[in-house]
Amino acid sequence: MNEIARGILVAAALQGVPQIYGQAARGRGRCALGVLAEACNELRTGEDVIGNKTSWIEDHQWMAHRFDFAARATCIYCCYGLFNVLASEEDVIAHMNDDHKCDFLEIARKL
Ligand SMILES: [Zn+2]
Repeated sequence: MNEIARGILVAAALQGVPQIYGQAARGRGRCALGVLAEACNELRTGEDVIGNKTSWIEDHQWMAHRFDFAARATCIYCCYGLFNVLASEEDVIAHMNDDHKCDFLEIARKL
């Protein structure tokens, strides 16, 4: 993750963006990847076939390029990505957000 991405996560924290889990965006809320996707214009929102609001990241490869995500990364808390799965830095950001409930500042500082 490059300094641009870290700055975006810090700005989201300072602006009080509500952090959510398991989904990129819900109302004003964003997960860490949702914050980053929105900053590079790759966050999409819409409805599924039964009308539930949904959100997704359009182009993961572009976002990974833009923010210089490493192809391999490991969670500092539980070693996710080291033994059990092959995780990219994007995978570990989602894991730290959703599974450890790390806030934006913690993800910016510790990954
Ligand atoms: Zn972990």
